[in-house]
Amino acid sequence: MRKKLYINGKWQGEEHDQFDVVNPATKQVIAAVSNGGKNEAEQAVEAAHTAFEMWSGFTAQERSGFLAKWHQLIEENKEEIGKIMTMEQGKPLKEAIGEVGYANGFISWYAEEAKRIYGDTIPASQTNKRIFVQKQPVGVVSAITPWNFPAAMITRKVAPALAAGCTAVIKSAEETPLTALKLAELAEEAGIPAGVVNVITGKPKEIGDAWLQDDRVRKITFTGSTEVGKQLMKGAAETVKKVSLELGGHAPFIVMEDADLDKAVEQLIGSKFRNSGQTCICTNRVYVQATILEAFSEKFKAAVAELKTGNGLEENVDLGPLINDQAIEKVQSHLDDATAKGGEVSIGGNSFVKNGGQYFEPTIITGATDDMLCMNEETFGPVAPIASFETEEEVIQRANNSPYGLAAYVFSENIGRAVRVSEALEYGIVGVNDGLPSVPQAPFGGMKESGIGREGGHHGIEEYLEVKYISLGV
Ligand code: ADP
Repeated sequence: MRKKLYINGKWQGEEHDQFDVVNPATKQVIAAVSNGGKNEAEQAVEAAHTAFEMWSGFTAQERSGFLAKWHQLIEENKEEIGKIMTMEQGKPLKEAIGEVGYANGFISWYAEEAKRIYGDTIPASQTNKRIFVQKQPVGVVSAITPWNFPAAMITRKVAPALAAGCTAVIKSAEETPLTALKLAELAEEAGIPAGVVNVITGKPKEIGDAWLQDDRVRKITFTGSTEVGKQLMKGAAETVKKVSLELGGHAPFIVMEDADLDKAVEQLIGSKFRNSGQTCICTNRVYVQATILEAFSEKFKAAVAELKTGNGLEENVDLGPLINDQAIEKVQSHLDDATAKGGEVSIGGNSFVKNGGQYFEPTIITGATDDMLCMNEETFGPVAPIASFETEEEVIQRANNSPYGLAAYVFSENIGRAVRVSEALEYGIVGVNDGLPSVPQAPFGGMKESGIGREGGHHGIEEYLEVKYISLGV
């Protein structure tokens, strides 16, 4: 399969310069995609800039109609998109189809929200004046997305941008361009006019730099590593672009002695092992109150023993392969460091190769301590280190002792305690007795080095709107 890029409503790209897309479960090449660079990035901006006047001139109802049509086509093609995603990204098919539903949820939610971009009227301090406040689209938006959620990271940005009246240039991750291009195909089929949505991929720095330098791009929205996010933020300063960043995380999962242990275990399995641990809100470290450490650890181990690892296209697989060799190496290095510092592997602990795919067994490390790499750096793999704590104050302090502040989880059946702890955690998202908090209508985003801005909900559309104050003399 050979794929081109979607620019200005046309499928473009050089046949002679393509890169391979590899299935992580088999290491087989499944497609070749045009290797976009500066030229394609500039063409996409030109198209988006030209389309902006028309798109922002549509009524909210008209834009909503286009989004609703796109939503309908994605819904009709859910299984096919899921299959493409599993083949290029590795996650189990049921998770992939689940992601398509989640991704599409942003489109339907923002199709509605497009109609609710309200302004204000403010009482003036002089009788001969009136004060009006309007919201207007920021202009051309550039979106750069990662491989771990090939559909949702695109729609979470593009749906509110389009609803607000912005046009978009999107760069999908090189690992997962096929899902992105399929979404573009359906946007075209939905009749979204040429230039409103442009999807390219290829040379990351070249494309990113072209967009940063172009003053027609008024907003950059990025999901990925903190390192690249910082570079983009610096680059955006040149033309003072608006910036939204969803960066790394290091989620603590806190189990208090008054928690419902079965619920905590069930939610931890989802939070830790979904996408084989490759999400930015995945639990990275588990803190269990000392009085229940043994009981909790046993239940957790029994649940982990049930998990099945394999090719995501096979039935009943819970964990697919990791995305690439570096991912395996990183997980292994965190595990080696933990065992060297006194941690013990209670289950799992090995990587293996099956039919070319590289897997890491779901793993629990007991006796984790705060000096271990896995307790400080993003592991991005299926390893759960468990540490114990004595008091509420202590665990809050240890949980907050991180440059990251994306998601945290707290399990307690004591409502007062749950509220106290969730308020004290320096995290943008807190799941109280809930390991899977992401939904289209709620604001997703991080504090500290986990990012700037929020995606989802009515907060998410504000990121694509300028506030205009009109002072009217009467
Ligand atoms: P990950 O570790 O998830 O791959 P990255 O931050 O490296 O995180 O990648 C996230 C996205 O950012 C991908 O689409 C990638 O191609 C892109 N990217 C990486 N480096 C740059 C860069 N210098 N400029 C713009 N985009 C980049």
